[in-house]
Amino acid sequence: MTDLYAVMGNPINHSKSPSIHAQFAEQAKQDLVYSAMLVPTEGFEPAVKDFFKGHGKGLNITVPFKEQAFQLAASLTPRAQTAQAVNTLILQEDGTILGDNTDGAGLVRDLMINQQQELTDKRILVVGAGGAVRGILQPFLEQDPAQIVIVNRTFEKAQLLAESFKEFGAIEAKTFEELDGPFDLIINGTSASLAGELPPLPEVVVDASTCVYDMMYAKELTPFLKWAETLGAAKIIDGLGMLVEQAAVSFELWRGIKPDSKQVLQDLREQLQGK
Ligand code: NDP
Repeated sequence: MTDLYAVMGNPINHSKSPSIHAQFAEQAKQDLVYSAMLVPTEGFEPAVKDFFKGHGKGLNITVPFKEQAFQLAASLTPRAQTAQAVNTLILQEDGTILGDNTDGAGLVRDLMINQQQELTDKRILVVGAGGAVRGILQPFLEQDPAQIVIVNRTFEKAQLLAESFKEFGAIEAKTFEELDGPFDLIINGTSASLAGELPPLPEVVVDASTCVYDMMYAKELTPFLKWAETLGAAKIIDGLGMLVEQAAVSFELWRGIKPDSKQVLQDLREQLQGK
């Protein structure tokens, strides 16, 4: 029987995950089907249970269910435990469900392998304090940056995150007004670009050696990346690579095979730009 995988979210119709995993499966000659499942806001738990009662072997979980997936998993990897959010569910041999979070590992892989960006000893500014940022802080701190500064529209959330992650390395919360110098790397982990908006960062955070990354991606440059380009940033990168790499980490967890993400990323980039 063919193994079933899916991504559950709401909304889900624009998800690129089915196409990414279909390509991984073809590459690795794996007999599996991966689909996108729209789940009603109140119906997450029964949907997951039904899926695993059938031939379901693994799920990706996206907005707005990552916290519910964290609650539902019978056991958690340490990184999912720290992130308090789960984007990957894995059916274990004993029939229980393990929860993991591959977002942070995906971003670190995209930065370090695809983009050749060092994180060790770098000054990193993280903008945002939502679920996605929660998932990236520990994998980032494991790379031993000189410092992570975290800013957020709701300052208290940045403070709470800095407090809960300080055991893993040098991290502090600041207000936007307190930012007074350039960073080596800036990560936009807010959803501001979705609304065509910009977080109120002072221009001094970017100089000619700054690499700027927006977790969002779109056909055109996101407002955040346009802003960074105007300020003369050394490099601007969108979140398409993170999307493919977090999927690659999930695929490896499920199938034990590391897919070649480079070709898939290149194809997806061409599709996005309508080539
Ligand atoms: P959440 O809703 O959990 O968090 C949203 C964050 O954005 C909060 O910090 C919020 O601030 C901030 N924010 C929202 N609107 C604005 C605004 N207009 N100005 C300034 N700050 C704003 O979302 P997630 O953390 O789950 O996702 C964040 C982004 O990351 C999304 O765009 C998502 O698409 C992207 N993402 C990309 C992935 C990839 O693979 N490329 C993977 C995961 C996420 P406040 O706390 O004040 O509300």
